[in-house]
Amino acid sequence: MGVCEICGKVSEVFDAIVEGAMVKVCGRCSKHGNVVSVQKKAISTKIEKDPFEYVDVIVDNYAELIKEGREKKELNHEELAKAIAEKESTIAQVEAGNMKPNFKLAKKLAVFLNIELIEHVESSKESYKSIDFKSSSLTIGDLLKKG
Ligand SMILES: [Zn+2]
Repeated sequence: MGVCEICGKVSEVFDAIVEGAMVKVCGRCSKHGNVVSVQKKAISTKIEKDPFEYVDVIVDNYAELIKEGREKKELNHEELAKAIAEKESTIAQVEAGNMKPNFKLAKKLAVFLNIELIEHVESSKESYKSIDFKSSSLTIGDLLKKG
């Protein structure tokens, strides 16, 4: 039992959104707004607050891009290595796809060759992708914990 915030009647009250505000209303007045359950409200608030995190990753086709970029500049491995103060073997390994460049090297290559080697991705999106939504044991609570 409670007091309806709209008509003042003492009755069973419900949480409702009336004109954008959360109020407690009786059954009759609840028809004026959208009655929401407290639980639903809590979940939607939690999701809105959950910030997306961004992470930098090296693109998958880095080897191809570096090779293309180098060839456009008409440089061989040795010349490119000298230009960015790296070892020739490092360039060869990276272009062969045997070695993923670290961020420092990727940035140098990206600037020098004028290519995009670093991708900015939403880490939350990535982690949601790995969740099996078909799994019947997974609840909304599990999703929230994961975030
Ligand atoms: Zn009322």
